[in-house]
Amino acid sequence: MARYVDRTRHDWVGTVWKLGVFLGVILVAVLVVYPWKGFWPMLLLVLAGLWMYMSLVSRSSGYVCAECGKAFQVPTTVNFFTQSAVGKNPDGTYYSYKNLTCPHCGKRSRARFVKRVGARQARGGGRLLR
Ligand SMILES: [Zn+2]
Repeated sequence: MARYVDRTRHDWVGTVWKLGVFLGVILVAVLVVYPWKGFWPMLLLVLAGLWMYMSLVSRSSGYVCAECGKAFQVPTTVNFFTQSAVGKNPDGTYYSYKNLTCPHCGKRSRARFVKRVGARQARGGGRLLR
């Protein structure tokens, strides 16, 4: 049973790390594959890298509906084609959200980006979300 917790500063480090791997793939594509194989294989590699990044992020995260407060996961395809936005909390910190339709209540809302953890990891820091 997976739980969802609010993201902490530490989680952003994890996101940056994944983004770094993705940027590495782009660098290899542009500097190695483009002069060697041409434009289309380069584009394919960049898209494959982006897809890998999105699926890594999708697997370890979820979204919380602003209407009913329930957490849900979205498939990589949805994550890939929807835009992320940044909102500000009342306490001055920032959070990431997407305008998504909730599978529980069917309403479209600013769904907050949260971390998905196993039940064992859910102990410790972070407010538990339903
Ligand atoms: Zn909902």
